[in-house]
Amino acid sequence: MSGIVVVFDFDKTIIDIDSDNWVVDELGATDLFNQLLPTMPWNSMMDKLMEELHLQGKTIEDIKQVLNRVPIHPRIVPAIKAAHALGCDLRIVSDANTFYIETVLSHLGIRECFSEINTNPGFVDDEGKLRILPYHDFLRSPHGCSLCPPNMCKGKVIERIQSTFKNEKDKRIIYLGDGAGDFCPSLKLGKGDYMMPRKDFPVWDLICKNRELVKSEIHEWTNGEDLERILLHLITSLISTEDMKSNIDNTSQLFDCKFETIALGALPKPLYCMVFVCFHPFHDLIDGYMVIIDPIKRLHMLYYLLQKKRDMSSKRLHMLCYLLQKKKRYTIIDIDSDNWVVDELGATDMFNQLLTTMPWNTVMDKMMNELYLQGKSIGDIEDVLKRVPIHPRVVPAIKAAYALGCDLRVLSDANLFYIETILKHLGIRECFSEINTNPGFVDEEGKLRILPYHDFHTFSHGCNLCPPNMCKGKIIERIQTTLENKTIIYLGDGAGDFCPSLKLTKEDYMMPRKDFPVWELICKNGDLVQADVHEWADGEELERVLIQLITTIISMDENVVDNTNQLFDCKFETIGHKVLPKPLYVP
Ligand SMILES: [Zn+2]
Ligand SMILES: [Zn+2]
Repeated sequence: MSGIVVVFDFDKTIIDIDSDNWVVDELGATDLFNQLLPTMPWNSMMDKLMEELHLQGKTIEDIKQVLNRVPIHPRIVPAIKAAHALGCDLRIVSDANTFYIETVLSHLGIRECFSEINTNPGFVDDEGKLRILPYHDFLRSPHGCSLCPPNMCKGKVIERIQSTFKNEKDKRIIYLGDGAGDFCPSLKLGKGDYMMPRKDFPVWDLICKNRELVKSEIHEWTNGEDLERILLHLITSLISTEDMKSNIDNTSQLFDCKFETIALGALPKPLYCMVFVCFHPFHDLIDGYMVIIDPIKRLHMLYYLLQKKRDMSSKRLHMLCYLLQKKKRYTIIDIDSDNWVVDELGATDMFNQLLTTMPWNTVMDKMMNELYLQGKSIGDIEDVLKRVPIHPRVVPAIKAAYALGCDLRVLSDANLFYIETILKHLGIRECFSEINTNPGFVDEEGKLRILPYHDFHTFSHGCNLCPPNMCKGKIIERIQTTLENKTIIYLGDGAGDFCPSLKLTKEDYMMPRKDFPVWELICKNGDLVQADVHEWADGEELERVLIQLITTIISMDENVVDNTNQLFDCKFETIGHKVLPKPLYVP
C-alpha cells in the first residue's frame, strides 16, 4: 500500500452522466420523474419511481441492461486500474446507490479495485423491486450539516475515513468530484491532501468562490484523459517524495532491495506503450571491458579485457568505480541476475576463473554445467531466482503501465529461464507480450542450458556496438517494422542499450538510468539520439517518470480528437438536479 487514499465520486466523475437520470431516461420514465420531483426529496423520489417502474413491468434485468450501457470515458477504467496497481486504496463516496454502482463497476471489471463504497443502500426486495434508501436516516437522525442534502453528508464520510488513519500521519487523500455535494468533503481535507474538482462543474465553481476555505492543494480536470494524467502524476509524485523522505532512515531496507534495472518501454501512439525491462544492471561491455559488480562482496570489480581493445584507460575505469561507489551510497544496490545466481550458489571463484577465458554468455552456459556436476538442481536455481531483490516500486510501475494499456516487452541479455522464473514469481509474467533474450532451457538431463540469442559461431549480427550474442538494436528494428504509429519508450541502463537507443525516432522516448553506462554514452553522443531523453535514478523515479510519460502521451493523442460535443452532451446542470438544501453557496 502506498498510504494514499483516493476517493471518487461516481456520477459525472467515474461515469460520464448522472446514473439516476440515465436509468430514468433509458427506461422512458422521464415524464413520471418530472412529475414526482417537485413533491419529495430526490432520494425518496427515486425509491418511489422504482416502485412505479416495477408496477409497469420493468424488471431488475431491464435496469441492469441500462446500467451496463452507461457512457464512460475510455481512459477512466485504465486510470482506476493503474491507481490500484500503484498501491492506492480506492474508495467511492457517492449519492447514487449501491445497486447502480456495484452493477456498473462489476460490468467494467473494476469492482475489486475499490475497498469501500459509501452510498445510499440500494437492493432488490422479495418482490423483485429495486429499493433505494437514504444513507443517513434523515427522519430519525439528521446529519446536521447545512451544506449537504438530507440523505447524505459526504463530509461526514470523509471525517470517518480520516478517523481510521489518525495514527498513520502520512496518509494522504486525493478526492475527485464534480457536484455541489462534493464541496462539504473538500472542506474536510487537510494541507497534505489533494482536491480534484471537475472544471466548470458545481464543486469547481464553489471552490473558486471560496478558495480560502479549502486547505488542500487543488488540481482541476476536464475529462477522462485529464483525470488520468493528473491523478497518476499526483500519485507518482507523492510516492516518490514519500520514498525520498523514508530514504533518510531506511538505508538498511534499501540495501536489501537490490535488483532493479528495469526499464520500460514504449507507447504506441494511439493507446499503448511498450516497456522494456533489462535484467542486467551492472554487467556491461564498456570499451572492451566487462565490468562486474559483486553485490555480496560490496564493490568488488572485475574487469575482463576483450580481444579488441586492450588499451582501456585506467582513468575510465576509475571513473566507473567512482560512479558505482556513489551509486551504492545513495541508492539501491542493483544486481545482475547472472551474478546473483552464481554467488548464491557459491560458485563465484569458478566464475571469475572462467570469465577470463570466454565470452559472458558462454561462461554462463559452462557455469550451469559445472553447477549441475556439483549436484545443484534446477530447483536450487529457481529458489535463488525467487529471492532476487527488487525495488518495491518496480512491480507497481509495471502493473500500472500494463493497466494503462501499454504493450510491454522485455529486451534483455539475461536468459529466458531466469526472466520467466522471476516474472512469474512476481506475478507479472502476463503483463509482457514478448520476451527477447538468450534462450535458456532445462535439457533432458535436468541441466540448465544458456545459449546465445544470435548464434555468433555461424552468423555474426554485424553490429560493432553490441556483444556477439545479442544486438538489441536489431531487435528494436524488428519491432519497429511491426508497429504502426506507435511510440516506443525504452528503459535501460547498460552499454548494450545504447545501440537500440540509436534506432529510436523523434516520436520515441529513451529513459536511460542515470550514472549508468547507457546514460553516459547518451550524454557523450547526444547528437546521435533522436528520441526524447528522460533519465531516472531508482525505482520510484522510474515509476514516476514512466507513468507521467505514458499519461502525457495518451493525453496528447486524445486531445487530437475533438470531444467538445461529448462535453455538451453531458447534460448536467441544465437537467433537473438533486434537491439540495438552501445554504449550498457558502456564506
Ligand atoms: Zn456535509
Ligand atoms: Zn547493436
